Amino acid sequence: EAKSQGRNTAVFFNSAMEERLQARLQLQRELHRAVLSEEIELYYQPKVDADGQVYGVEALSRWLHPVKGMISPVDFISVAEQSADILILGRWVLRTACKQLVEWSKNPDRQHWTMAVNVSVKQLREPNFVEQVEEIIEQFGAPADKLIIEITESMLLGNTESAIEKMNRLKSIGVRFALDDFGTGYSNLNYLYRLPIDQIKIDQSFVRSMNKNKSQKQVTKSIIALGHALQLKVVAEGVETKEQFNTLQEQGCDLFQGYFFSAAVRVNALQNDYVPANATK
Ligand code: C2E
Ligand code: MG
Ligand code: MG
Ligand code: MG
Repeated sequence: EAKSQGRNTAVFFNSAMEERLQARLQLQRELHRAVLSEEIELYYQPKVDADGQVYGVEALSRWLHPVKGMISPVDFISVAEQSADILILGRWVLRTACKQLVEWSKNPDRQHWTMAVNVSVKQLREPNFVEQVEEIIEQFGAPADKLIIEITESMLLGNTESAIEKMNRLKSIGVRFALDDFGTGYSNLNYLYRLPIDQIKIDQSFVRSMNKNKSQKQVTKSIIALGHALQLKVVAEGVETKEQFNTLQEQGCDLFQGYFFSAAVRVNALQNDYVPANATK
């Protein structure tokens, strides 16, 4: 009895694994088609300043699957990263974001908005990454000083010098960099001051736990102090409540991003009369 059950369990386990593998392969095939057919869309999440005014947006990819509905980048970016699809997708994201930036640059109410774009480690490691970004900026005439590229600490692992060199070249034409998910990765404080970054983004996990106890509040306070000591702007991610916003504001945080103000929205939601929720002015 026990023996046959054990065998059944093993068979079941194997077919579950097989199913997962098949599902992943199917997702990979569908993603390849999606990347080519523009089923992927950019949504934009505002970053606001301490007065609740929009400072800019972060472009976030959304896959609008014809049958499965909206698929989160958490589920498809890692799949895209297993093939050259991430390079095609990444380039499309940069182009689309830069085109939008040009649209906003013609609008007096929007021309101060920055556009942050997430890049993948595979993109950054492309030998001609700098030329690709320069070419897109030139082709559309995008204001380079409004483009912010978001990278994470883990992307620099084993690759720091070459990444710094590329970042410096892009910085020389005005492009800025933000260090995303700060505090969750391999935080090497030895090289932090050497990175040509303009912003650090406090990971949302710290923001989530900050109102739970006093010592958690010290974490965000310390990250803000560190950022300011390095002359960086500090952005808080995942701000969901007034309490979190107030505390971070008191701690001197410069920019805020989160559902308290707005989730990522379609571009047509950002009309001229657009004001994020809970904006004080
Ligand atoms: P990220 O760059 O750290 O982006 C922040 C994520 O937090 C976004 O999830 C955003 O929708 C979500 N978020 C914003 N405010 C709140 C909040 O108040 N509460 C909570 N719970 N979440 C909030 P999303 O859009 O699902 O993206 C997840 C990750 O996928 C991004 O993390 C980024 O690493 C990656 N990603 C998204 N779009 C792209 C892309 O075009 N290219 C690349 N390479 N990666 C992307
Ligand atoms: Mg980001
Ligand atoms: Mg983040
Ligand atoms: Mg992230």
